[in-house]
Amino acid sequence: MDGVLFHGMNPIDGAIDFMQSIEHIPHVFVTNNPIRLPESMADKMAEIGFKRPDEKLIITAGEATASWLAQQKTGFTFFAIGASGLHDSLRKYGTEDKDNADYVVIGEGEGLDYSSLTTGINLILKQGAQLICTNPDTSVDAFYRGKRAILPGAGALVAPFITATGKQPVTIGKPKPLLYEIAMQELRVQAEECLMIGDRPDTDILGAQQLGIQTALVRTGRFAPGEVLPENVSKPDWDVDTLIRLQKQLGL
Ligand SMILES: [Mg+2]
Repeated sequence: MDGVLFHGMNPIDGAIDFMQSIEHIPHVFVTNNPIRLPESMADKMAEIGFKRPDEKLIITAGEATASWLAQQKTGFTFFAIGASGLHDSLRKYGTEDKDNADYVVIGEGEGLDYSSLTTGINLILKQGAQLICTNPDTSVDAFYRGKRAILPGAGALVAPFITATGKQPVTIGKPKPLLYEIAMQELRVQAEECLMIGDRPDTDILGAQQLGIQTALVRTGRFAPGEVLPENVSKPDWDVDTLIRLQKQLGL
C-alpha cells in the first residue's frame, strides 16, 4: 500500500485511476504495516481520494499475526510491543497478560525500551513463551513527528530479543508465505492466477515469486526509476516506473 498507492497522506500519481481500472478484477490489499487496523486503513484511503475499500480486503501483518496465533491456540495470552493497532488486532482473538503470556509479539511502532525488553525476555526464557514477529522488514519508510523518515521495522525491533534469548521468532509478514496465502484464500484463487504489485523487491516481490505468483515492481516507493535492484532477488515480470505505465502495459 505505502509506496504503491500512497506516501503517507498523499496518493501516488495515477494510483486512484489504477484502482478504478481494476474495480472489476478481484483484488486484496496486503500490507506488512501492522500499525493501523484494516478499518482505519480503509478510512484513510477514502480520506485521501480513493474509493473506500471493503475493510475485509485489507490484510495487515497485525491481523494475520492475530488470526494465525488463534489457529495455534484458541484464547491465547500475549505480551505485545508495538503500535496500538497491533494490540487492537491481538485483542480481537487473545488476552493481554504480561505475567503469563503464551506469545511475545513484536511489531512496528513505539514501545520497545529496557523495561519491555526485560519483560519479554523473561517470558521467553523463564516461562517458555514463543517469540513472534509481525513482519521481517528491517526498516520502513514512513513519517515520524511530521517528517518523512526511515523507521526501524519489526525485523530490527525483534533483534534484541533474539540476541538476549538465542531464540528465533516465527515471522508472519512478507516475504513469508502466510499473508499471501490468506489473500489467496480470501480471493479463492490459485497463485498462478495472481499478480502481486509492490514497491519492495526484498519483501513484496520475493515472497510472491516463492509462491509462483506473477509480480510487478513499481518504482514509486523503495526504488526510484533507473535504480539498480539488489542481486539476490529475481527480476519481476513487470518492472515499471509508475502504476500509470503498468495500467497501459496490462491493457487496463
Ligand atoms: Mg510498500
